[in-house]
Amino acid sequence: MTQTENRPTTSDTPFVPIEKIVALCKRRGFVYPNSEIYGGVSGIYDFGPLGVELRNNIRRYWWWSMVQLHDNVVGIEGAIITHPRVWEASGHVENFVDRLVDCKNCKRRFRIDHLPPENVISNRCPVCGGELMEPRTFNLLMETYLGVVEGERMKTYLRGEACQNIYLDYDNVLKSSRMQIPFGICQIGKAFRNEVTPGNFLFRQREFEQWDLQFFVHPSEMQQWFDYWKEKRFEWYKSLINHTDRLRFRAHGSDELAHYAKQAFDIEYQTILGWQEWEGIHWRQDWDLSRHSEYSGQDLSYTDPITKERYIPWIVETSGGVDRTFLNLLIDAYEEEPDPAGKEPRTVLRLHPTLAPVKVAVLPLQKNKEELLTTARGIHNRLKRLMVSQYDDVANIGRRYRRQDEIGTPYCVTVDFQTLDDATVTVRERDHMTQVRVAIDELPAYLLERVTWQ
Ligand code: ATP
Repeated sequence: MTQTENRPTTSDTPFVPIEKIVALCKRRGFVYPNSEIYGGVSGIYDFGPLGVELRNNIRRYWWWSMVQLHDNVVGIEGAIITHPRVWEASGHVENFVDRLVDCKNCKRRFRIDHLPPENVISNRCPVCGGELMEPRTFNLLMETYLGVVEGERMKTYLRGEACQNIYLDYDNVLKSSRMQIPFGICQIGKAFRNEVTPGNFLFRQREFEQWDLQFFVHPSEMQQWFDYWKEKRFEWYKSLINHTDRLRFRAHGSDELAHYAKQAFDIEYQTILGWQEWEGIHWRQDWDLSRHSEYSGQDLSYTDPITKERYIPWIVETSGGVDRTFLNLLIDAYEEEPDPAGKEPRTVLRLHPTLAPVKVAVLPLQKNKEELLTTARGIHNRLKRLMVSQYDDVANIGRRYRRQDEIGTPYCVTVDFQTLDDATVTVRERDHMTQVRVAIDELPAYLLERVTWQ
C-alpha cells in the first residue's frame, strides 16, 4: 500500500495534545473508559462502533501484509491461558519485573528505567523535586486459577506476551504445514500486564493486543533476515502515516540488549510524549526454542531435509501492537485547520483511506425532496455490501461534511438535483475538499480502487 497522491507526506503541524484525542475518541465512539459507570479501571479501555472498525482494519492490514503476501509465513491463534511452566521457561516468572519508586512529596509513581539518570542519582522526583522512596519490585504477570476445587486449583497466568504461543506451536506448524526453514509464524492476540504505571491513554494499558512475527532461520542467515524484516516493518509504518519525519529507528544500547541478542531496534514515533517505541525488532537467536526444549523435555531442533544438519533455529522477532498503532495513527491523522470562511476550525482525521473506519458517507442534499432521499438510500444500500457506508440526512450539508471529516471518512457522496437528471453524484474528497462528478454506475469501482489495499 502506498501513500495516496493527495495526502501530505510530511507536515510542520504542532504535536497534538493527547487530551484532544481522548475527547474525540469518546465523543465520536472510538474508545470508552472501561467500567466507566463504576468509576473506571486504570489502564483498561473498551472500543466503540468506530473504534472496532478501525481496529479490525488495522489487524486485517497487518495480517494481509505479513501472512497473505509472504509465501513463507503462516498464522496461528493461540489461547490466552497456557501451562504455567511456559512462563517459567520464558523467564517471566523470575524476570518480568518493573522496579518502581514513589515520590514522598507529590505521590507520583515512576518506573526506574523511565527516570532521567540525574534523578536516579539524586534520588529526587523529576516533577516536584521531592525525595523518592526506596525502590520496590513488581512482577507484571497477571495470575489466574484453573479448576474449581479449593486446594486443587492450578495457578497460571494470563499471557504476558502473545508470542509464547508461537514457540509452543512451532513444532506442530512444522509438522502440519509444508513450511521449511526459513519460515515465519504470525499471531495477533491479547496480552495482559500488571503495568505499574499505566497511562497516556492507549499507550500503556493492562490489557492490550500484540502482533508478532517469529521468523525461524538457519544461524548463518540470521543477519540477512534480520535486516530484511527490519526494513520491511519500517516501510509498513511509513506507508500508513502522514508525518513520516516523525518515524525513526533507535538502536538498543549494549546495556539494554538481552545476553543472546547481537542487536535490537525500536521503530519509534514522535508525539507530544516524545520519541516512543512503536514496534521492536529483536534478535532472539536460539533462546526461546532452547528454553522450551529444556523445560518441556521435547526436542525442538530442526533437521534440514537436504543437508540433514540438525540445529535449533534462530529467530528474528518483530513485535508491535494494535493499540499503539491505533493511538499513533489517530495522533498522526488529527488536524485542526482554519476554515477559509472564517468560521470554526475544521477538525479532520487524515487517516489512510484503507484504514478509515467509515469509507463513504451518502448524503442527500436536502431532506424535503423524497426522490433525493430514495436515490441516496439506494446508493447506500448498494455500497454497504462492499465497504462501510453511512447514510446521513440530518443537518445541513456543511455540518454533515464536518461530521465525516472528524471521523476520517475519505469520501462523501452527495445526491443533488443534477443526480435526478443525469444519474451522477458529487464525490467530495476529505483532505483537499475537492469535488468531482461520478456516474452512479461507476461509483463502486471508483471508491473501491481508492479505499482497499492492493
Ligand atoms: P516497555 O519497555 O515500554 O514496557 P516492552 O519493550 O516491554 O515495552 P514489548 O514486550 O517489546 O514491550 O512489547 C512489544 C509491543 O507491544 C510494543 O512495541 C507495544 O507496541 C506493545 N505493548 C507493550 N506493552 C504495552 C502496553 N502496556 N500497552 C499497549 N501496548 C503495549
